[in-house]
Amino acid sequence: MLEKVLIANRGEIALRVLRACKELGIKTVAVHSVADKDLMHVRLSDESVCIGPPSPTESYLNIPSIISAMEVTDADAVHPGYGFLSENADFAEQVENSGFIFIGPSAETIRLMGDKVSAIDAMREAGVPTVPGSNGPLDDNNDRTLALAKEIGYPVIIKAAAGGGGRGMRVVHNEAALLKAIYVTQTEAKSFFGDGTVYLEKYLENPRHVEIQVIGDGRGNAIYLGDRDCSLQRRHQKVIEEAPAPGIPEEIREEVAKTCIQACQNMKYRGAGTLEFLYENERFYFIEMNTRVQVEHPVTELVTGIDIVKEQLRVAGGAELSIKQEDIKIQGHSFECRINAEDPETLLPSPGKVQLFHAPGGPGVRVDSHLYSGYTVPPYYDSLIAKLISYGSTREQALTRMQIALDELLIDGIKSNTPLHRELVRDSEFQKGGVNIHYLEQKLNI
Ligand code: ADP
Repeated sequence: MLEKVLIANRGEIALRVLRACKELGIKTVAVHSVADKDLMHVRLSDESVCIGPPSPTESYLNIPSIISAMEVTDADAVHPGYGFLSENADFAEQVENSGFIFIGPSAETIRLMGDKVSAIDAMREAGVPTVPGSNGPLDDNNDRTLALAKEIGYPVIIKAAAGGGGRGMRVVHNEAALLKAIYVTQTEAKSFFGDGTVYLEKYLENPRHVEIQVIGDGRGNAIYLGDRDCSLQRRHQKVIEEAPAPGIPEEIREEVAKTCIQACQNMKYRGAGTLEFLYENERFYFIEMNTRVQVEHPVTELVTGIDIVKEQLRVAGGAELSIKQEDIKIQGHSFECRINAEDPETLLPSPGKVQLFHAPGGPGVRVDSHLYSGYTVPPYYDSLIAKLISYGSTREQALTRMQIALDELLIDGIKSNTPLHRELVRDSEFQKGGVNIHYLEQKLNI
């Protein structure tokens, strides 16, 4: 078992990791920027090290500073959380080369999944259903590309192999626009990501976003922890997530999950991961794999009773998975609302001093947040300030509990998107379940 873990992140996820470490009796080191000395987990950790100025590139993305902090504090492992360095293969490699443990998959796996073309290839090999497309990078044989797009049928989407965060994609509706779109996406991809490789896929018009949570032990054993629906999105950012994904026939879910496990076994996947799919007309289409813990992992924890972060820590320490596939039973339903410090009208970030924070409670309510009254939200980082998570024995009960919890939530001093959430959990289509990825933007008219 690990003895001391350095948490290379901030905000709610740093606190989440700290809690899991404490439960397992693991000592913790918090690293923070100058702007983050008052973060809750910095106060609660055994040790803390300031790793640089507010700018993320000089602190949370500063690999030498983080590795030095591991050396100085004699930590044995680093948990990268999500975002920042969590999917940076070079970081994972440097951590391991310096004699420490990276809590996550091997650098090789991160690299394989970080390139969408190689990720899709690996998945296809394991039998995971993928979107019909070019099955590899587009080359300069324009005739072949035009013929392929015609065969697949418009609309198609051009995507950068190195793309991420919703960038480096372009939808093409007809043949006349295809070659120009490819050129523009290649040029953009080269300047954003330093890699101009692009590929082509069928553009699915009204899919849902459904993802499968997996955990592997790095030796070829892997299990899946059910699915989540994250279709409620705005500008490709998830707003509300739930588990399980409503209305998916059990045999279809099982069939795709089996292929996900096969893929993880093939790569000897280590740690927690998520295979993201588009789901349309009762079919799953793989789009990418995230090789880290997701923001929305709590909804899976509540319906499975499994602590995903603790499993990450155990597996990283060399233990086998503490659970077998047959022990996993999905029970009840869970929702997560992402509470952001932002103006609900303009969507602009709303940093500043939180005069009052009152977290809701009661049966079936969990709040993952680093906020406290008097805390100042700095302007330099992601605007996520709290995750409100509800659980119920049915979807309806989980949703009712979420409505009550949102009404109890008080955040004074800064603006948040709580009013939007209060409206969404009462939306009749959302209440029915199974809205597609365009629903929220259509509803908000953006
Ligand atoms: P990123 O890594 O930038 O998040 P993804 O491959 O996960 O990129 O795609 C992000 C979003 O783009 C998806 O959630 C979906 O809304 C849309 N998208 C991607 N591929 C397709 C496709 N083939 N058809 C329809 N929408 C797509």
